[in-house]
Amino acid sequence: MRKTLFGLIVCFVFVAGAQAAPGAIRCGKLLDVRAGHLLSDQVVVFDDAGSITAVGPAASTKLPAGFTAIDLSSATCLPGLIDVHTHITADPRASGYQGLGISAPREAVTGVKNARITLRAGFTTIRNVGAGSFTDVAVRDGINDGEIEGPRMLVSGPPLGITGGHCDNNLLPYEFHFKDQGVADGPWAARAKVREVIKYGADLIKICASGGVLSKGDQPGTPQYSLEEMQAIAIEAHKLGRKVAAHAHGTQSIKDAIRAGIDSIEHSSLIDDEGIALAKEHGTYLDFDIYNDDYILQEGAKAGMLPESIEKEKKIGRLQRENFRHAWESGVKMAFATDAGVYPHGDNARQFAKMVEWGMKPIDAIQAATVNAADLLGWADKVGAVESGHYADIIAVSGDPLANVRVLESVKFVMKGGTVVRNDLASK
Ligand SMILES: [Zn+2]
Repeated sequence: MRKTLFGLIVCFVFVAGAQAAPGAIRCGKLLDVRAGHLLSDQVVVFDDAGSITAVGPAASTKLPAGFTAIDLSSATCLPGLIDVHTHITADPRASGYQGLGISAPREAVTGVKNARITLRAGFTTIRNVGAGSFTDVAVRDGINDGEIEGPRMLVSGPPLGITGGHCDNNLLPYEFHFKDQGVADGPWAARAKVREVIKYGADLIKICASGGVLSKGDQPGTPQYSLEEMQAIAIEAHKLGRKVAAHAHGTQSIKDAIRAGIDSIEHSSLIDDEGIALAKEHGTYLDFDIYNDDYILQEGAKAGMLPESIEKEKKIGRLQRENFRHAWESGVKMAFATDAGVYPHGDNARQFAKMVEWGMKPIDAIQAATVNAADLLGWADKVGAVESGHYADIIAVSGDPLANVRVLESVKFVMKGGTVVRNDLASK
């Protein structure tokens, strides 16, 4: 008993030590992401819990007693960015057979490295959708305990899928009897798997509704989980307070997943007009990862991606971008999702320019990575906007992201929960 109490006290002191002091930052410009315009000379005040307590003009906003605002008067501030589709423990240089020799502990170490890189690139919140052996749970918990540096994380643990599907691992022959951790066939087995991943720490459920690009022996357009299985998964997950993200490239799988009540469709590549109408009707988020196509085609072979994967990407990459444009023009809800881990972590912001190239205005793409992503995560009151009551998760860039969205690729200042993570503007 004494030992437990001592542990609690040590734990409290450690966490308290990692907490922010109250303070303020002064922003030359502040992007109001909801209204879509820049405000001049603003001050953001936060408390010792790392939450914003006031936002307003520098001339009239009171600072906490004895504190000077961090000077970002030469920069543009905006809320910390959110990527709703990452694989933080995945190494993009180890695809296909090269990935088979990586242990779960080694994968966790990769996750520690990538969490830091991702946060320093301006992504203060991520949703990790698929990691073996709950390595993403370990990284999330290490960050939350203040032991390592990284973004706020919602994690899924192992993704659920059918035997032989995209979320199984089909690289080894039968005599190895290998089945991936998330494989569950049939509605009740799938329900049991939902319960299992939640038991071991999942914040959300990731499933594979259709075939994929980087898996062996399947096709992105082919359905895998049935409507019946996905309905069971969605009911069970929602009952237990978790959302569900479905990997779905294929036209039929996208529609089945939406009808089943899945919360977000990942990739969405071969969506048709009926799928778009269903997404609007159900309020389902469509997440298009339209940056990584370039990386797969240029670097995939070197990374060990199978020749069949490169061929699949050649067929699907452009169609996905065209369908992104069409779906956006049709008025669906979209969140910023990049599949980081397929390409190097930290380059997440490169997708903004692709989204603008394929039909969005810069503010649309920024909203996808802030207010809209926060809504999908169920964290609309905590992240995705610089507003009172939200975490003081704030980044700053040089220049105007509404005029040139690529300034988000070189973030100069990152604050998470009132703690400065990087400040390249300090000496200026
Ligand atoms: Zn993915």
